[in-house]
Amino acid sequence: MRARKQIVLIAHDNRKTDLLEWARFNRETLAQHDLHATGTTGSLLAKELDLHVHRFLSGPLGGDQQVGAAIAEGRVDVVIFFWDPLEPHPHDVDVKALLRIAVVYNVPIACNRSTADFVLSSPLLSEAYPRPLATS
Ligand code: PGA
Repeated sequence: MRARKQIVLIAHDNRKTDLLEWARFNRETLAQHDLHATGTTGSLLAKELDLHVHRFLSGPLGGDQQVGAAIAEGRVDVVIFFWDPLEPHPHDVDVKALLRIAVVYNVPIACNRSTADFVLSSPLLSEAYPRPLATS
C-alpha cells in the first residue's frame, strides 16, 4: 500500500448527508489522497469538496461490483462505506459481496462515522503499509 492512498467512498441514500458532512470536516486529509466513489455519492462529494472524484457506476447499477473488482485487482487501499442498516436495498447482494471481498483482501473498510474517524486519523494513512491477504 502506497503512502498516497486510493480511497473509495460510498453512501446509501439515507447515509449520504452523514458522509458529506464527514467528508467536509475531513476535506484537508482527503485532498491528500486519490478519491473514488459510486456514481451519485461521487457527484455529491465532488461538488461538496470541490475535489476530483473518480466515479464508478451508481451502486444499484453495478457500482458496488466495480469497487469489488477494483479491490480484487489491488487498486483500492481504503473503503469508507456508510451503508444503511435500517432499510433493504435492491442491490443488497452486491453490498454483501463488496463487504466480503474487502475482508478477503484485508482492505480497511469503515462502515460508520466513528470507524471512519479512526481510519482517517491513523498515522498509517500517510505511510506505506504492507497489507497481507486476510486468507494467507
Ligand atoms: P450511489 O450508490 O453512490 O450511486 O448512490 C451507492 C449505493 O447505493 O451503493
